[in-house]
Amino acid sequence: MGKQYVVIGLGRFGGSVTRTLLSLGYDVMGIDKDEKRVQEYAPILSHVYQADSTDEGVMRELGVRNMDHAIVAIGENLQASILTTLILKDIGVKFVTAKATNDYHQRVLEGVGADHIVHPERDTGVRVAHQVTSKNMIEYLELSPQHSLVEMIAPPIFCGKTLKSLDFRAKYGCSVMAIRRRDNDLVVSPHADDHIFEGDMLVIIGKNSDITRFERTFA
Ligand code: ADP
Repeated sequence: MGKQYVVIGLGRFGGSVTRTLLSLGYDVMGIDKDEKRVQEYAPILSHVYQADSTDEGVMRELGVRNMDHAIVAIGENLQASILTTLILKDIGVKFVTAKATNDYHQRVLEGVGADHIVHPERDTGVRVAHQVTSKNMIEYLELSPQHSLVEMIAPPIFCGKTLKSLDFRAKYGCSVMAIRRRDNDLVVSPHADDHIFEGDMLVIIGKNSDITRFERTFA
C-alpha cells in the first residue's frame, strides 16, 4: 500500500497539495474546520472531515496518528498551525511538513518538532523576482542558503559553442547539469564536447554569488 497523507487546512495551498497528491495516486485524508471547504473536497476525497485540528482528542479519534505524513497547510492562524504541528508530533505522526508564513513562525515550528518546513510565499517571491529581472530566466530554485539551480535560455553568444570551448566551469564558476533542446529533448550531464544551440535551455547549478554574476551578465 502507498503512503498515506493527511492534509490539514484545505485552503489554496493545502488544496493544491491535496489535488497533486491525488493525481500522483496517493491516498489523502483532508481535514478543515470550515464546512464549506469540506463540502468542496468531499467529491474527490474519500476521507474528509470537518474538525478543529487543535483538538487532540478529535485528531486521535480520526486516526490521524496512523498516517505516514501530515501536511499542516493552515495559513493565517499561527497559533492553530503551531498547536496542530505540536499535537501531530505528540500523537506520533512520523513526518510532519508545515507551512510557515515568516521566519519567526518557522522557528517556532522547528521548536515544536516539524520535520520539514515550507515557505511557499517567500519562495515564489524569490523566484518571481529572478524571473522578472531576467527575461532569459525560466526557473529559479534555492537549494540551500548558499546554492541554487536555475533554468535559463542559452545566451546567444553561447550558441554553436561547446561547454569546453566556453570554458564554462572555470569562467562562470557554475556547472551545466542539463541542456534542454528546443524539441524538449533533455541532455543530462552534458559532456564537455556537447554543443549549445539557439533556443536551448541550460540547467545550471552553483553558488548564489556565481549564479547572480551569471544572471547579471546575461539577463
Ligand atoms: P491559503 O492561503 O492556503 O488559502 P488559508 O489560511 O486561507 O490559506 O487556509 C487555511 C485553511 O485552514 C482554511 O480552510 C481554514 O479553514 C483551515 N484551518 C484554519 N485553522 C484550522 C484548524 N484549527 N483546524 C482545521 N482547519 C483549520
